Amino acid sequence: MFDVIVLGAGAGGLTAAIHAARAGAKVLVIEKTDACGKKLSMTGNGRCNLSNLEMGPEMYNASAQEDIPTYFERFSVNETVSFFSSIGVVTQEEGGYLYPVSGQAMSVVSSLQRECERLQVTFVFEEQVKAVSYDDEALAVSTDRNRYASRAVIFATGALSGTKKCGATGDAYYILEKLGIFSTERYPALVPLLSNDETLPEVSGVRAFATLTFMTPKKDLAAEYGEVQFTKGMLSGIPVLQASDVVAKALALGEEVTVRVDLFPSYDDDLYEALVLSVLERKELPGMERVSILDFLNGFHNSYLNETVLRKMKLSTSMKVKNISREMLRSILMHYRRVVISVDGAASYEKAQATAGGVPLNAMTDTLMVKRTPGVFLAGELLDVNGRCGGYNLQWAWTSGAIAGKAAAEYAKQ
Ligand SMILES: Cc1cc2nc3c(=O)[nH]c(=O)nc-3n(C[C@H](O)[C@H](O)[C@H](O)COP(=O)(O)OP(=O)(O)OC[C@H]3O[C@@H](n4cnc5c(N)ncnc54)[C@H](O)[C@@H]3O)c2cc1C
Repeated sequence: MFDVIVLGAGAGGLTAAIHAARAGAKVLVIEKTDACGKKLSMTGNGRCNLSNLEMGPEMYNASAQEDIPTYFERFSVNETVSFFSSIGVVTQEEGGYLYPVSGQAMSVVSSLQRECERLQVTFVFEEQVKAVSYDDEALAVSTDRNRYASRAVIFATGALSGTKKCGATGDAYYILEKLGIFSTERYPALVPLLSNDETLPEVSGVRAFATLTFMTPKKDLAAEYGEVQFTKGMLSGIPVLQASDVVAKALALGEEVTVRVDLFPSYDDDLYEALVLSVLERKELPGMERVSILDFLNGFHNSYLNETVLRKMKLSTSMKVKNISREMLRSILMHYRRVVISVDGAASYEKAQATAGGVPLNAMTDTLMVKRTPGVFLAGELLDVNGRCGGYNLQWAWTSGAIAGKAAAEYAKQ
């Protein structure tokens, strides 16, 4: 009989196992793949952006914002840095973003695993947890090969984002449902968005700084600033990823979503007006009779995006500047501040870095035990907590893992 069984050897599970073992518990970790931390090893483009010094509830989804401070009071960013130092991982800050100095996500995985081994945590690999049930005084964990007994169980099986190879198959939702624990609807988060907009020409590879306002006919969903990447049929880049969870949800609810793109985000109205006036003056220069509007705009903005603006306005790219009135040219130039593009879907979970939705925090105690099932704790992406890009999702995995690990060990002692 174990004191604590941790399901899943990812970011949350390994942290939970260490904290439970440090609190004196006899711990077993069951992992369905053949190794620890497969997803963790891919984070931050292999560098592992493990947290962020700019922390607050607004960095997380709206449904988690009220409850999440309780958990960060119990295990903060500072405690995370100390925790990593205690397992030999030195961290450094880059503009608020925290990374291991090693620059290797793999070093984070191996340090977590080594600490588990030092604490004599038992691991079983390549066993898939299929069910958890109450068995007299204990909890029984059934895998595809064995059955284990424990006083407390921590579900840290992750959710749906990332490739199937890293274990992201959402098994736990169904196991939890059998225990009467339900999740809210799930959507991919931190994911590129799809667009069938016909006015986007072959823009593959175009990058531009912009302010994006995602909206439905009824309301604005989110506004984000940053570098957008336009690829055929797809919008990506940090500002797109940041808004993707609310957009994916609106699309799943059958809403029509568009994004208004301001391609001159660093210009305020006065500065932009001055820019427009200078462009209008250029139109009158001698020799402009032969110049097409597309060539005229060359240098004003990216040539592919110039084409998009003209297509949006149903104007021919070969039209001569001399044939365009001053008013028309002004309205073309003003269009760069409000290019509206349709958004038709979110890319698949395979391309997502997080999952929106999951078991809601109001179903949990302050120590991440499920209120209705004593001895059953949850950690990580499985909960209805998804953060912005920048280390917030891993921070949630460390915070929730540490809290659940300590509390499960205490529960097992009772
Ligand atoms: C490409 C990519 C890059 C990312 N980069 C960052 C970043 O830089 N910073 C950041 O903050 N976040 C990042 N994230 C998000 C971050 O990786 C997750 O938030 C985090 O890994 C979630 O931790 P977890 O422990 O809940 O789940 P996971 O890390 O997914 O671990 C779950 C584990 O449970 C195992 N498992 C699943 N089902 C079962 C079962 N039935 N039986 C046994 N084991 C099971 C899985 O195999 C897996 O090992 C990134 C995500 C992706 C996909």
